[in-house]
Amino acid sequence: MKRLCCLALTLALLACAIPAALAEYTPGTYTAEAAGHEAGLVVTVTVDETGITAVDLDVSNETPEIGGAAKDALIEQIMAAQGADIDGVTGATETSTGVKLALTDALNQAAGVTAAEKTAVADGTYTGTAPSFGLTGPLTAEVTLSDGKITDIKVVSETDSLTGEWFGSAEALLIPRIIESQSLAVDAITGATTSSNGIRNAVAAAIDAAGGDSLQWYAEVPKKDDTVVIEDYDVIVVGMGGSGVFSYCAAADQGATVFGIEAAGKIGGNSVCTYGPMALNSRYLKEKFNDGEDYINPDDVYKVWMDYVEGDEKADVIREAVYNSGSALDYYVDNFGFEFEGLGLLGSFVVPEWDKEWCVYTADEGNTAWNILGPNKTYQFLRALDIANAKNEKNRYMTELTAESLIFDDDGKAIGVKATYYDGTTYEIYGKAIILATGGFLGNDEMMVEYLGSTVNAIGDTVNKGAGIKMGQSAGGALYMMGTLPMVHISQVKNIIRTDDLTADQKAILTALALTTDRPMITTTGEPWGNVNQSGTTADGIEVEIVFAPNFMYYNLYTQADIDAIREKGLSEAQAAATSNFLAQGGTLPEAGTPVADIDDILSVGEAYGDVIKADGVAALAAAIGCDEATLSATLNGEDAVYYAVPCTSWAYGTVGGLDVDVNMNVLREDGTPIANLFAVGQDSEGVCNKDGKAYTPWGGQAQSWTFVSGEIAGKQAAAVAK
Ligand SMILES: Cc1cc2nc3c(=O)[nH]c(=O)nc-3n(C[C@H](O)[C@H](O)[C@H](O)COP(=O)(O)OP(=O)(O)OC[C@H]3O[C@@H](n4cnc5c(N)ncnc54)[C@H](O)[C@@H]3O)c2cc1C
Repeated sequence: MKRLCCLALTLALLACAIPAALAEYTPGTYTAEAAGHEAGLVVTVTVDETGITAVDLDVSNETPEIGGAAKDALIEQIMAAQGADIDGVTGATETSTGVKLALTDALNQAAGVTAAEKTAVADGTYTGTAPSFGLTGPLTAEVTLSDGKITDIKVVSETDSLTGEWFGSAEALLIPRIIESQSLAVDAITGATTSSNGIRNAVAAAIDAAGGDSLQWYAEVPKKDDTVVIEDYDVIVVGMGGSGVFSYCAAADQGATVFGIEAAGKIGGNSVCTYGPMALNSRYLKEKFNDGEDYINPDDVYKVWMDYVEGDEKADVIREAVYNSGSALDYYVDNFGFEFEGLGLLGSFVVPEWDKEWCVYTADEGNTAWNILGPNKTYQFLRALDIANAKNEKNRYMTELTAESLIFDDDGKAIGVKATYYDGTTYEIYGKAIILATGGFLGNDEMMVEYLGSTVNAIGDTVNKGAGIKMGQSAGGALYMMGTLPMVHISQVKNIIRTDDLTADQKAILTALALTTDRPMITTTGEPWGNVNQSGTTADGIEVEIVFAPNFMYYNLYTQADIDAIREKGLSEAQAAATSNFLAQGGTLPEAGTPVADIDDILSVGEAYGDVIKADGVAALAAAIGCDEATLSATLNGEDAVYYAVPCTSWAYGTVGGLDVDVNMNVLREDGTPIANLFAVGQDSEGVCNKDGKAYTPWGGQAQSWTFVSGEIAGKQAAAVAK
């Protein structure tokens, strides 16, 4: 996680923003940093004696189409207001707030202001509402203020939990820290940044409602700088998502002492927002759901898989992935209490006859506790860790501890992991074997561009920034199939609008414009795109088409005449049926043929959020998309018109390529020799089951299955190496 840091944003400084009319500055250039959506938003302001002469914003850490796109408007507002008393930009609330905070700080430096009182807040309980991760509504908190202090914060409604189990960690961890520090500048909880920002912004709104000035409540929260050394572990597991927990449990089961390192505020990673794993002829599933009979021919699966990878280089690994998928599941059922339902509830994406190929986790509180991405299942992982920890009192894992690098001895052997705790403390943890389980690199923009040519919208964890892969490389490990395309099953608009700038029904229409299959489609390179099947698979049933589009997106194209027709005659049949798979926002589409009178409002809000590009003519459209004009002109037959391009984008679960491993999950060097005490599991090594340039193996549940198979093998092997 990026740290909120360096921020000369002290409470005292913030408490006294200089009214523009009274400004008396020491001429010069001043810089300050604050957090917008992400940390690291920097304002650089140049002043003469009485006013601002120039301002620059570094919003490179913000979402490009939202915070990044707001940059020019914010500069314009600052110059006009000659200070931080600006409206901000619709849709870019977090960036706007960060800019106001950093600018206030920089101007206070220019004015030599060092201390002042906060604006008084009236005692009482106040309500604040702010957009958060929820797709269908904002987050509302009740904040109790007493004697100028926050004494209680209760989130009274939220829809964040509909998409997964991340919100709970923000609620449980962030709220006590805000109250303890009396500051909204506490770090966001790793893994729940948007929910943390939602809580913070709701509290800020409540402070403002109490007559206060929330901008004064961002006192820097000091960090520790001490180092804790932890020694003598057999096995260290880096990343406690699915494959990490499975590795931890298997190593503990072999009698090894195990230390687990988890960056997020909770364990489970992406693995706790899945439906479930592929498991071929698991004994447990057979007995529970299939009268003890086999339910699939694993030889078929093996053959299809080997055809898919087009070579037998990793045949031994794929053999494990196929033939031990059932027994790996049984191992965790038998020894760590895992439970599953629904064999046959989900068919294979690929081969219809594999109708019982994957299963579903048993939800907490029976089968009712589901979010839209699967059953609530963290409890199963926590229970397994309790069982593992009961095997040796030394076994231990820590959350909010981010692994940074491996520690090597003089011979270049990895002997430990250096990590940073959320409070700034450095940890050095030493052990004999290390298992890398950090879930791939979806959250690392540089790696995404380097290996896949582009970033992609994430519905999976962006904590997963390739830390494990980089650590493996630092030990001499080689990479494998880094060009396998990311896991995509979901298309949606480019930027999900979480504010109420559009109603839910209007958001549904915007989504339909992006997802419909009846429009001319163009790629980001200006070429035609097509043949998209909304079920998410191509004709051969194996691949998710949109993931092959350049930059993992394409544009649905409308002319002004098309939009006029929607206003007067309504949506087409295809448009009226185009809804998002999983990421819908609660609205209802009008029936085909019902005039959409507010289509212009929908498009103009969409434009503000980067979900619509409006361009007058081919040249303007090419410039807006950033493609070659001649190419686009050829695609559009040179037809000049007013165009509306509505991006349809991939929303990815995670990446696939990772470290090269052998059948023991040992990380391999370029020369193919194993690094004896270093292992990689889950998405950190999933390239070995896949193929560059192809969509990942979507048999159904394969990714999750690999966490079981690779976790069991690595945990046992690492324990053996350590012993
Ligand atoms: C919404 C969604 C639905 C899915 N549905 C399915 C499904 O039904 N079936 C299926 O097979 N697959 C599914 N997948 C894919 C599957 O979840 C993943 O492939 C699999 O869970 C990956 O497991 P993992 O252990 O590699 O990663 P994760 O479970 O993501 O674990 C990685 C862990 O490492 C931690 N971490 C990252 N960096 C660091 C660091 N520097 N220090 C310490 N810790 C770190 C993360 O916080 C995380 O907890 C889904 C994914 C998503 C996002």
